[in-house]
Amino acid sequence: MRNHLYDALFDPHAVSERTFLILPGGTDLSYRGFLALTARYSHALRAAGLQPGDRLALQIEKSPDMLAVIAAAIQAGVVFLPLNPAYTPTEVGYFIGDAGAKLLLADVASLGALAPVAEAAGAGLMGLNADGSGSFADAARALPDTFPTELRAPGDLAALLYTSGTTGRSKGAMLSHDNLLSNARVLTEAWRFTDRDVLLHALPIFHTHGLFVATNIALLAGCPMIFLPKFDAEQVIGLMQRATAMMGVPTFYTRLLADPRLDRTLVAGMRLFVSGSAPLLAETHREWQARTGHMILERYGMTETNMNISNPYGGERRAGTVGLPLPGVEVKVCDGAGAELPRGEVGVIEVRGPNVFQGYWQMPEKTREELRADGFFITGDLGVMGADGYVTIVGRGKDLVISGGFNVYPKEVEDLIDALPGVLESAVIGVPHPDFGEAVVAVVVPRKGAVLKEEDLRMAMARDLAKFKQPKHIEIVPELPRNTMGKVQKALLRERLRELFQR
Ligand code: AMP
Repeated sequence: MRNHLYDALFDPHAVSERTFLILPGGTDLSYRGFLALTARYSHALRAAGLQPGDRLALQIEKSPDMLAVIAAAIQAGVVFLPLNPAYTPTEVGYFIGDAGAKLLLADVASLGALAPVAEAAGAGLMGLNADGSGSFADAARALPDTFPTELRAPGDLAALLYTSGTTGRSKGAMLSHDNLLSNARVLTEAWRFTDRDVLLHALPIFHTHGLFVATNIALLAGCPMIFLPKFDAEQVIGLMQRATAMMGVPTFYTRLLADPRLDRTLVAGMRLFVSGSAPLLAETHREWQARTGHMILERYGMTETNMNISNPYGGERRAGTVGLPLPGVEVKVCDGAGAELPRGEVGVIEVRGPNVFQGYWQMPEKTREELRADGFFITGDLGVMGADGYVTIVGRGKDLVISGGFNVYPKEVEDLIDALPGVLESAVIGVPHPDFGEAVVAVVVPRKGAVLKEEDLRMAMARDLAKFKQPKHIEIVPELPRNTMGKVQKALLRERLRELFQR
């Protein structure tokens, strides 16, 4: 054993002339070419003073060079933290300060704005653009294209991923070499990836979904990726016939469904569509099947744990559920104290397995709150496991609304609203209320061309919902606020409607 992750993901391809990255509009990159670039960046990391265990922050646009720097960090034993390009310099300052990053790589155009926060955090700052230019690329260019891979054990830290948490301070999830590798192995097998696949990759690579789930599977299987800078429905439709598999967030699927060119012919060469990171509406699942003949495979995971639960490749892919625990992952639905509840009852999902992270970077107390001594991670998601083991996510624990002392699970109300004629989707939240503590509020998006009347929605709900679950206010809006991973930003809605019932 030399380097647990590098040896499994990259080393087997060292001299392979096969294509690794298909770059529409650019020159495709072979595995060998990619790994030569990686080795030069590994040398450049050392030249910049980074030793094994040091932290490297990257805030650069998705590109082959960004991916090569990440591979280089793994090869050189450096811990990497990829940051969303949308973060402001102040936010980046927090991350690099918290992580104690030794070097920050950023697009050349942002160097001026980032210089003060890098200096305050004591981090070096170098430029790297998506097109492979910048001071860091210049430093790497003349360096050797092989590198003596650094020794790393399975439990050594590979990455720090700051969770996108919508409340409180962001926490750095510590992911070890084996957290990443064990999960990639399970997923490659479960979803039957081989070197005959071509993965359409339109997800960002600062997040677990695009970085670890998608990329590590492609590397393990040895298949090429059509590597797109971002999701663009037009471009994805144009490239679909060259791919065999795609991974996406639910918005990818709803946007593609909005295009009349999506039909069975377009997806004739595809064998798999995976969805995750946010709930896929059962209706989207069904519409996709009707239009394309494919059942989307929905899976469930998070930054801290990688993937935990997935619909089966071979068995029933059940709309509205996230499927069954993945091999090697234990899943329990528990009460607040961690005692397992009987099947069919709603509780907090807890997971344990080699995929579960090592804890939060320099936050032992936070780690103790969420990671039990016996290794179970308290996800904070509410779910229910059916008698046959299929898991349905009911919402986030913090989204639970308690109105007049009664628990209201937003998902139950949302499902009901979403099924009403003329409704595209909805978000149900709790806002402060002088009598009830919290009041249920529904934010509803109409379908294109449909006109929704609050009164009709109210009457329809009155039929099927207990009074305490019925929204005390309904807001009709053209769209819901979402973050880059397609998650509805309920915190933003709660903030916006906070004063609704305040006198
Ligand atoms: P992140 O750490 O950014 O990947 O966010 C993880 C969170 O996304 C989970 O804790 C869930 O709340 C949510 N999530 C991920 N996949 C799904 C899914 N298939 N259905 C519902 N929620 C999901």
